[in-house]
Amino acid sequence: MINKIYDILPEFLQTILINTVKSIKKFFYKLSKLFRRFQNSKPEIIHEFNFNRKYGPLPRVCYAPYTSLFLSRLGYISPCYASYNSDSSHISKESLKTAWFDGSIERIRKKHLNYDFSECSLCKSLLEQKAFGSLLINKYDHYSFSRSSYPRIIEFELSNKCNLSCIMCDSNLSSRIEKTECNNISGNQFYGEKFFEDLEEFIPHLHLAEFTGGDPLIIDEYYRILQLIKKLNPSCSILITTNANTYNEKVEWILNNFKKINFNVSIDSLDAENYSKIRRNGDFNKAIKNLELFIEYSRKNKTYLNILVCPMTVNFHEMADFVNFANEKDICVFFHTVVKPKHLSLKYNRSDSIQENIENFKSLKFPDKTKNQKTNKKNFEDLVNLVEIWQSELELQMRKNQNQFRELSISEMEESLFKKIRGEEKFVNYKMQTILEKYKNNDNYKVLLSKLVAVENQKFIRYLREKETDELLLITEDLIKSTK
Ligand code: SF4
Repeated sequence: MINKIYDILPEFLQTILINTVKSIKKFFYKLSKLFRRFQNSKPEIIHEFNFNRKYGPLPRVCYAPYTSLFLSRLGYISPCYASYNSDSSHISKESLKTAWFDGSIERIRKKHLNYDFSECSLCKSLLEQKAFGSLLINKYDHYSFSRSSYPRIIEFELSNKCNLSCIMCDSNLSSRIEKTECNNISGNQFYGEKFFEDLEEFIPHLHLAEFTGGDPLIIDEYYRILQLIKKLNPSCSILITTNANTYNEKVEWILNNFKKINFNVSIDSLDAENYSKIRRNGDFNKAIKNLELFIEYSRKNKTYLNILVCPMTVNFHEMADFVNFANEKDICVFFHTVVKPKHLSLKYNRSDSIQENIENFKSLKFPDKTKNQKTNKKNFEDLVNLVEIWQSELELQMRKNQNQFRELSISEMEESLFKKIRGEEKFVNYKMQTILEKYKNNDNYKVLLSKLVAVENQKFIRYLREKETDELLLITEDLIKSTK
């Protein structure tokens, strides 16, 4: 009810309402914290998070286990996409109802009451890093007022059927990758007739049905669920996360039969060439054309459309462009937290160009007059903040490694470098010998060796394999300079 009233308020009243409620709640929270100082077992980090929440302090740390159901492609049932594991309830063993009321979701609820986030590693580490703006928990705060015992959100990830094979994706989420890697397309393996029957009890309680994949626009099971929603809960909001490479009669059917469809459109580059390198088999022009059609629908029906971006080593330099693009279209841009694959993740790779981008991004000023502009600015700042934290952690780790290796002798470090490339082809060996020969008599040779030894093995080999000797010498030159 409160959600519904809030949703129909004009933007400026929503902001006033949120800020007023937030201030009152913060005041009482501070007061209660003061009085309960001696018996309060709540970790300090949770207090800090509470002061940073959109709606102010809330009684529970995360509302996902009380309001949301995630149905993974592997059959596991959990509160959100980041909290399932091999001990989670499975649709082949438990009904939806058992999983929700008594299964592993109840187990997570109990754990959260004791501030145990052992099944929520993504949120746990973001909380520890104080990256509050990037927390998945934030998504569910909007439903914290719900009094229903049934989930308000169901996120369907029933099939991996997809037309693209993006570089950061895997066979679990893309049938195209699965076909290439395993010569197999598994699609929907676990959700059968019994599931569709059980679902009928849940649909009337839903406020939001989310469809992910694969690409939802080519997954047949989703059209079946949409038919059920049309029959049992036509006022339910729908969120479709798509790569926007598909537009056909079925998509038209959705757009013509539902008035509350929201879109998350995944576009990881605004440069056609980089787009095709990241979203393999994707068509940039088609995606932009369909994006425009979906924007038109959402304007007409007053729904929302966000663009979702996976910030990685290969597109980080474009992140500010996304903010400008989104502001221009008067839509929002959200940035995913990409931690895998490791070789593309900003959490595991450090480079001068990433540092330069961070410095440049921090100096940018974005408009913040409208609600969307404010959101875009905040999302961008949260992203830059998070990447900066990651990069300093990497630097710290690198320094620790270097100090540890500096205690080794020159020959021990050289030996360690050759161990790294053991089994590699001759040209890899040759490139490394050329570098070592060139700098052998340099005063900083030992420090250079300690830096090279500290580089993660796979990255070290990748550089030697992929870069030309001249380029490697330039990189080494920079390393030597940075030791002075
Ligand atoms: S704490 Fe994070 S990972 Fe755990 S249920 Fe909540 S949103 Fe999901």
